[in-house]
Amino acid sequence: MRKIAIIGSGFSSLSAACFLSSKGHEVSVFEKEGVIGGRARKKEINGFTFDMWPTFFCMSDIFDRFFDRFNVKTLDYFNFERLHPSYQIYFSNSNSISLPCSKEQLLNALEENGKGNSKFSDLLINDADVNLQTLYVKGGMFKIIESIKRLAESFGTTFFANSMVEEIVVDQKSAKGIIVNGDYKEFDLILSGIDYQSTESLLNNRYRNYNNQDNYRLSYSALLFYVGFDKKIKNVSHNTIFLDTDFDFHAENIYDLPEWPENPMFYASFPSITDNTIAPQGKETGIFLIPIALGLGDNDAIKNVYFEKIISRMEKMTDQKLRDNIEFFESYYVNNLSSDYFSSKEDAIELANTIAQSSSNKANIKNKKVRNLFYIDGLTIPDLGISSSMISGEIVAEEALKSISK
Ligand SMILES: Cc1cc2nc3c(=O)[nH]c(=O)nc-3n(C[C@H](O)[C@H](O)[C@H](O)COP(=O)(O)OP(=O)(O)OC[C@H]3O[C@@H](n4cnc5c(N)ncnc54)[C@H](O)[C@@H]3O)c2cc1C
Repeated sequence: MRKIAIIGSGFSSLSAACFLSSKGHEVSVFEKEGVIGGRARKKEINGFTFDMWPTFFCMSDIFDRFFDRFNVKTLDYFNFERLHPSYQIYFSNSNSISLPCSKEQLLNALEENGKGNSKFSDLLINDADVNLQTLYVKGGMFKIIESIKRLAESFGTTFFANSMVEEIVVDQKSAKGIIVNGDYKEFDLILSGIDYQSTESLLNNRYRNYNNQDNYRLSYSALLFYVGFDKKIKNVSHNTIFLDTDFDFHAENIYDLPEWPENPMFYASFPSITDNTIAPQGKETGIFLIPIALGLGDNDAIKNVYFEKIISRMEKMTDQKLRDNIEFFESYYVNNLSSDYFSSKEDAIELANTIAQSSSNKANIKNKKVRNLFYIDGLTIPDLGISSSMISGEIVAEEALKSISK
């Protein structure tokens, strides 16, 4: 039996905790926030529940396989359902299409609406949802976190919230322990489920693998709004995309210029359409996401401008008055991404999805200079997203177990 520390409590950490503690190891998970779950946090306001980051997932088979490995069933832990449609996409008022549909139908609809040969069509056509599924968990995505935490605890994993890991202590190329809230704790093995660069920053310079972080191209950032509506919203679906503007121009704002987009496309989620447990009766929970460039920062004035933009566009597209039905709205500060998750480049969501950063070009899961330190996060394998994070936890746990048996 080995003493194993896992830093961070996102999906990848929870998955690894299950695999390691089920083999009899003493696993401790340290999370700097007061709640477990990482980016899959929830916000509760006046009877409304909001998933703060992930709002849906794909590939239920990954969860089936995960629970199967522990001889239990996904449905013993949480209930999920496939969304119909996966998305509704607005091109202009009274003109929207619903996915899933065949690739051909989708291409035709995009052509008809002048989006046939665009960055957005490339994105959408390649998106798993056309071929696979868009899934939602009753009660919100946090239910999955609660489930996996429960499973990990059943194997003996201990969770420590409000526990900031400040340093990984290394001696003679071997990690000896971590400093948590000022106290040194000894461990035989350390797995880090926090953003890669953050893990490196916990190490003395000579043990870092990637001193030049600019080698990596990071993805975009996001401006988010959480809105309580005092009525049910018509003409929208659980997942709705407002693509009534020029996305190529918006993409230029994100990747080339970079600057605040004049007329952004935006994603809206109304989970209370599917799930009556997360909004008071007769009301609607709304989550809005605008993709933006990295490093723009934000403030109340900017956020109010963008909130106004999306509400007026939505009123026009969906043919209804909404302004007077907003019970409250809150936003997540873009700037908080860096303080909450220590994302590099201030506010990056994850690593950009490019070939140069895929497969074997990804950051290594094992520190090359410290024999018993492993990395589990979106910069390593396989990718970002909650299903991929679950796989990452499994793969890294397997590698860690192999290192123990050597
Ligand atoms: C806006 C947004 C929307 C998204 N939507 C979706 C979606 O719909 N579907 C989907 O599948 N994926 C989505 N994702 C991606 C998904 O949220 C992530 O891929 C996944 O949650 C990452 O999990 P993780 O295990 O890497 O850890 P994270 O969730 O990043 O958790 C890391 C944890 O480590 C903690 N931590 C950091 N430093 C320390 C330290 N020094 N000591 C202790 N703890 C520390 C942090 O507080 C955090 O809780 C979205 C991401 C974002 C940002």
